[in-house]
Amino acid sequence: MKFPSLIAAGVLSALIISCNYSSENKKAELMKAGISKIDWGKVDGKEVYLFTLVNNKGTEVKISNYGGTVTSFITPDKNDKKSEIIIGFDSLNQYLQKPPYFGALIGRYGNRIANAKFTLDGTTYHLAANDGKNTLHGGLKGFDKVVWDATIPNDSVPSLTLKYLSKDGEEGFPGNLDVTVQYTLTDQNELKIEYNAETDKATPVNLTNHTYFNLSGDVNNTILDESLMIDADRYTPVDSSLIPTGKITPVKGTPYDFTSPKKIGKDINEVKGGYDFNWVLNRKDSSLQKVAVLSDPISGRTLEVYTTQPGLQFYTGNFLDGKFVNRDGKPIKQHTALCLETQHFPDSPNEPGFPSTILRPGEKYHSLTVYKIVK
Ligand code: BGC
Repeated sequence: MKFPSLIAAGVLSALIISCNYSSENKKAELMKAGISKIDWGKVDGKEVYLFTLVNNKGTEVKISNYGGTVTSFITPDKNDKKSEIIIGFDSLNQYLQKPPYFGALIGRYGNRIANAKFTLDGTTYHLAANDGKNTLHGGLKGFDKVVWDATIPNDSVPSLTLKYLSKDGEEGFPGNLDVTVQYTLTDQNELKIEYNAETDKATPVNLTNHTYFNLSGDVNNTILDESLMIDADRYTPVDSSLIPTGKITPVKGTPYDFTSPKKIGKDINEVKGGYDFNWVLNRKDSSLQKVAVLSDPISGRTLEVYTTQPGLQFYTGNFLDGKFVNRDGKPIKQHTALCLETQHFPDSPNEPGFPSTILRPGEKYHSLTVYKIVK
C-alpha cells in the first residue's frame, strides 16, 4: 500500500472509531496512520488504553496495554462480510472479572509448572500456586493482569510496543525480567507477535498469547466443525492435573493425529474433556515455520499459524462454561472457541528431557509468532 492511501485508511478508521465510541464519550486519538487509541480506565494507578490497528484489507485488531490483551480481531469472510473472530469484551471492567486469559499475553511462564516449584542451579524456587497445587500461566498475577507501558514505534505498518519489568521474586520467579512484546498488523492480514526479554538472574521464561478463535464469527457455532492441521508427529501426554508425564509420544493412529487436516470434532469424544495438550512441532531448526492451519467451512476463513517456538498448546476451550458472555450477548460455552498457543513445553523447568526454557544474564530471549488470516 502506498503511504498516502495508508494515511487515508488511518484517518478513515479513526473517524469510524470515534463514531463507534462516541456513545461512551470516548474519543479516539489518531496516533499515526492505521493506529488510534482511546482511554480505557486505570488499573494499579496506571493508565489503560485500547489501541486499534487497521490495515488496507479492512482488518481491524484492538489491543489493550492491560495484560497486552487482544480484545478484537475483525476480518472479512469469503463474502467480504466483516465479523469478529476472537473472544473479547468492550470494557476493561469485564477483563477485571478474571476471564480465562481471553486474548492476553501470558508470562513469566506459559502453561503449568508442577507443584508450583522448580530447582535451578541448586536453589529451589517456590511459586504462587493458582491451579490446585500447580502454577498456571505465571501465577496469581501473571503478565495477563498487569499494565504494560505502551509506545507506538515509527514503523510504516501499524504496530504497538508493550514493555513490562517483572521484578525479581514476582510470583516467586528469580531475576528482574525486562520483557518487550511488539504487535504488528500487516497488509497481508498477519498479526505478528514478537517477544524479547532479558534477565539479571537465571530464570525460566515461556511467553505466549492466549487468544481464543472462532473463525465462523459467531459463538453459536462450536469449533467442532472447523478443521485443523498441526505439523507435529508427537505430543506430550499429561497426568490428571494436566502436568506432562515427561514422555514424548507419537500421534500416529491416535485422536491426537492432526498431521493432515481433520475436523476437530471427529475424534474429540475419545479425549476426556477435549483437547488440551502440547504438540511437539516438527522442525529442523528454530526459524519461523508454518505449524498449524485452521479452516472454517461456514465463513471460508483460514488461519495459518507460524512460529519459531518448539511447541503448540491446542486447547478446545474445555473449561468454558457459559459464565462469561461475549460482546454480542451470547454465552461463551465449552468448545465455542479454541486456542493455538505457541510455546515451550509445559513444566519444562522440572523436565530435563524437554528443551530448556532457562534464560541467563547476558542472553536474549526472542520468539516470533504470526497469525495469518487467509480467505
Ligand atoms: C491451558 C488450559 C487452561 C486454559 C486456561 C490453557 O492454556 O492449557 O489447561 O485451562 O489455558 O484458560
